[in-house]
Amino acid sequence: MNNDQIWQAVLGEIELNLSKANFTTWFKNTFISSFEDGKMIICVPNTFTKTWLEKKYHDKIAKALESICNEKIKEIYYKIEIKKNNPMDELLKKIKIKKDEINQEPILTNRFGLNNRYVFKNFVVGRGNELAHAASQAVAANPGNAYNPLFIYGGVGLGKTHLLQAIGHEVSKKTDKILYVTSEKFSNDYINSVKSGNAKEFKDRYRNVDLLLLDDVQFMAGKDGTQQEFFHTFNELHQANKQIVLTSDRQPKSIPALEKRLLSRFEWGMIADVTRPDLETMIAILETKCKEKNYNLEASILHFIAENVQNNIRELEGALNRIIAFHEFNNTQPTIDSTRHILSNLLISTKSKSITGKNIIDSVSSFFGINIKDIVGKSRKKELVYPRQITMYLMREETNTSYPTIGYELGGRDHTTAMHAYNKLKKEITENEKIKQDIESVKQLIYNSNN
Ligand code: ADP
Ligand code: MG
Repeated sequence: MNNDQIWQAVLGEIELNLSKANFTTWFKNTFISSFEDGKMIICVPNTFTKTWLEKKYHDKIAKALESICNEKIKEIYYKIEIKKNNPMDELLKKIKIKKDEINQEPILTNRFGLNNRYVFKNFVVGRGNELAHAASQAVAANPGNAYNPLFIYGGVGLGKTHLLQAIGHEVSKKTDKILYVTSEKFSNDYINSVKSGNAKEFKDRYRNVDLLLLDDVQFMAGKDGTQQEFFHTFNELHQANKQIVLTSDRQPKSIPALEKRLLSRFEWGMIADVTRPDLETMIAILETKCKEKNYNLEASILHFIAENVQNNIRELEGALNRIIAFHEFNNTQPTIDSTRHILSNLLISTKSKSITGKNIIDSVSSFFGINIKDIVGKSRKKELVYPRQITMYLMREETNTSYPTIGYELGGRDHTTAMHAYNKLKKEITENEKIKQDIESVKQLIYNSNN
């Protein structure tokens, strides 16, 4: 038997006695790098796994090895080393595409600050955005006269900004007097103009346009001065038949602390929502993006991506970018397997929606090797208090459960206990590497066991 075969056999044995989650967490990317004169070196991917194997699994490993190897093993060492012969992991590490990075393609904007990609031609119409799309086209064709204002709302990454800017591109063929801003920028400009006594300049800029595109108006919530100023801007533009288009992550009446008179203005024209597209639309969007990028992907792979990345279109694009980058770098053809592998992080994060308190308690129990009844029990022993606090912290952080419910689920404790635990760990996680790693590992268990 060579080293790989020995290790396979050892893993086979260990797997029998461990939960799938624990097994994958602690034995993923481990291997034997050398075995000479009774000395064995087992490689692990990080310090944390190293400590964990030494502390928790050493006996199991030694026993399994003993029964498998003919040769006597005198010493076992654990060493941190990343396996070289897994080309996929190696490459992924090299290109280091993190979730945030992939979503930040270079943005090419035109002189109005509009993203060149956000045009109607690149927008796929399907269930979920038909109305918003039709209304946007109507407004673009006939600014000031179709619907005024047009108010588009819906969840993140569903195409609001894209539609808003597509209107801008279209109208810019007829006039130069268009202005695209986020409501934050509007607010900052306003505040600065007040501070520097340039109110006139501000008014000239905002009230002298044919088309005002205001993105993410929900950020005006609670900003009274900004709202007042916008109210006047709105009235002046509207009276002069100038087009106003607004987007928001929620409908006007759900924006907190929005002045009544502004709310009623928003409801004057057309309110259109965008919702999550269905599978066919998702696939069609992927096809369009592939064309834009001049990249060819088989239908079965497009289907696989669309089925597995369901949250929103931005994530869908991120997934596609990741797949393209990986295969271009590697100079290989995408397969379902390679796609699944590349998406695994994204898929995990998509799944986080369905994590329950029970998943968390189970994972804490298996990570610390303590009983569930002790986690929810009364004892205030140190070995139990810490895992219990981690449970509370993660229930808050990962599932957004209320403090009273967390207290209740953890053996009927008071909500202040849950709040205290959360705040304490929230602070400590930034100061104490060990706590941070514990929490990371429990999270890994939670998401691995949720497959
Ligand atoms: P929002 O403003 O709603 O958060 P964006 O307009 O920024 O979302 O869209 C996120 C990404 O998804 C953008 O790259 C956009 O081009 C793309 N996108 C959204 N909807 C569509 C669609 N229907 N067709 C093509 N691309 C879309
Ligand atoms: Mg947006």
